[in-house]
Amino acid sequence: MQYRKFAKNDHVSILGFGMMRFPNKEDGSIDEELLEKMVDYAYENGVNYFDTAQVYYNDKSEILTGKILSKYPRNSYYVTDKLSIWVVNSLEELDEFFNNQLRKLQVDYIDYYLLHALNKEYWEKIINMGAMDYIVDKYEKGIIKNLGFSFHDDYETFEKIIKYRKWDFCQIQYNYLDTEVQAGDRGYKLAEELGVELVIMEPNKGGLLCRLPEICVEEFKNINPDASQANWALRWLWSKTNCKVVLSGMSDMEQTIDNVNSANLFEPLTEVEQEAVKKVRKAILAAQRNGCTGCEYCMPCPFGVNIPRNFRIWNMGALTGNYEKEWKRYSQLADADASHCMQCGSCEAVCPQSLNIISDLASLHKEITDYINNK
Ligand code: SF4
Ligand code: SF4
Repeated sequence: MQYRKFAKNDHVSILGFGMMRFPNKEDGSIDEELLEKMVDYAYENGVNYFDTAQVYYNDKSEILTGKILSKYPRNSYYVTDKLSIWVVNSLEELDEFFNNQLRKLQVDYIDYYLLHALNKEYWEKIINMGAMDYIVDKYEKGIIKNLGFSFHDDYETFEKIIKYRKWDFCQIQYNYLDTEVQAGDRGYKLAEELGVELVIMEPNKGGLLCRLPEICVEEFKNINPDASQANWALRWLWSKTNCKVVLSGMSDMEQTIDNVNSANLFEPLTEVEQEAVKKVRKAILAAQRNGCTGCEYCMPCPFGVNIPRNFRIWNMGALTGNYEKEWKRYSQLADADASHCMQCGSCEAVCPQSLNIISDLASLHKEITDYINNK
């Protein structure tokens, strides 16, 4: 495993385990046994950074993270947790929320604590509620060792928040496709200038960059036929020296082994490889319909629409050109297809990618039904 010096003087593995995309059993429940094996494998192979939040599986992620990590010496891993301000409405609730986090994680301090998924609205809520003072108090008492924020909004908001105080670290969505959305390249550069080290989330854009059709990744295959698509995405990030930890939401053992191997064997991209990434990026951007990451923050839809599934089918149809196959999947969505959107707007309010979900659903339904009707 390769490590980087981080924050005050920690040595973090360049691969972090994102505890938010767990393996499932056939009945849809979390496969806890497999999850534990995956975490054990990662830990035993040097991964020492584990990232959770209360909103991941509604407490379950924190509980499982605490349960699995508690068998290891406390000073052998770093655990990250978050204040998801949208589920907290007063300082009393915050106090209960934070103390519950310590209890669920089975720890008496949290190594890295983030103000979660900040945007203009959540940032204002944190300041107006006095939540910042509460968190800083925990930080000064050493119950939080390092204080940072994670971010989903425009660059201007990022600039405002990152300059608010001297943060120990910051977490942004970044990958070779998302260089000009949210914080993007400009945010990366600003963080570097300010001496704020980065944790990266969505390195594969919600898995999209691991499941690209062959036609999009010929450039990669020509250079290294054996490297996984995930390996390319991770190496692109690790080649940037201020990306200290890249989080991967691993959901099966195969991914875990592949990610760990990538972190063990990492070497920066060569110029030729950087050019290949640029070409692949161009091909994806030209073909994809929208930038849904499949994060599911918009779910459940009160009218039963499976929003990420609709967008995945739409994007995969566009990327592969295999309309027959993808549009058939659309017809199998039945009550969960885009035509059931009642335009209530609740999904758009929480989408970290600021997608125009309502109009995109209408567009995809029209595109697919037109195709089917005109066959
Ligand atoms: S706007 Fe449409 S898709 Fe979004 S939550 Fe409302 S009904 Fe569901
Ligand atoms: S529509 Fe937005 S919130 Fe929903 S899965 Fe896609 S990116 Fe996530």
